Amino acid sequence: MHSAPPVLVVSDLHLDQEPSPTLSEFLQFLDGPAQGASALYILGDLFEYWVGDDAGFPAAEQLADALSSMPMPVTFQHGNRDFLLGKAYANRAGMELAPEVLPVELEVGRALFMHGDSLCTADTEYLRFREVVRRPEWQQAFLARPLAERIAEAERMRGASRGAARMKPGEIMDVHPDAVAAVLRSHGRGLLIHGHTHRPAIHHFEVDGQPCVRCVLPSWDEVPGYLRVDANGPRLLTLDGGDYPVESGLPADPA
Ligand code: MN
Repeated sequence: MHSAPPVLVVSDLHLDQEPSPTLSEFLQFLDGPAQGASALYILGDLFEYWVGDDAGFPAAEQLADALSSMPMPVTFQHGNRDFLLGKAYANRAGMELAPEVLPVELEVGRALFMHGDSLCTADTEYLRFREVVRRPEWQQAFLARPLAERIAEAERMRGASRGAARMKPGEIMDVHPDAVAAVLRSHGRGLLIHGHTHRPAIHHFEVDGQPCVRCVLPSWDEVPGYLRVDANGPRLLTLDGGDYPVESGLPADPA
């Protein structure tokens, strides 16, 4: 059967200020499998933190050069770490900035793309923090501070977020089945693709009796990989093109 080139989706690369092995892997991915894609989507946490488009971190600038020469559309969605990434950097990288919930028409069906943090509705402490840092006034005040102060604050917030994550039970750090059902229902979609939780898998479940699929992208800090979607459906792959080693032995996820 004739099939259009695949759509590729990645998230959670968590790139640092300086070039790293993960940056090299991603540049190889852009030069390799990504070249044959019809579109590339980056669903947030591309960077470990973002303190402003003026920061000029070497890894980010190198990546902008590579992304801007990609032959297909590249779309970026904010994660909870790089939510301050703005139009200036997106333009340098040739990326389209997408809203938090992005409907995408795929050959295999109508999908929704999200970073995923807003689906972790049991983590009320995080959601309160998120509500504050997404306010335009907070962002303008933060971006107006000297670069060194912004970096120090981002480092502090990263430490606090890691500490909090260690103290919370696993279910709280995962997406909530009700939030997943609600977003699929409200957009009339049966396929959700997101990152953030670092629990790569493809889940099959039902919402209101309708079969649904939720694809969770891998974190590149662990085993790097990506989602490839074509007419045959979604597949999680490692960078060498093999099937992604999805964890087994976990209890069945209701969503
Ligand atoms: Mn995240």
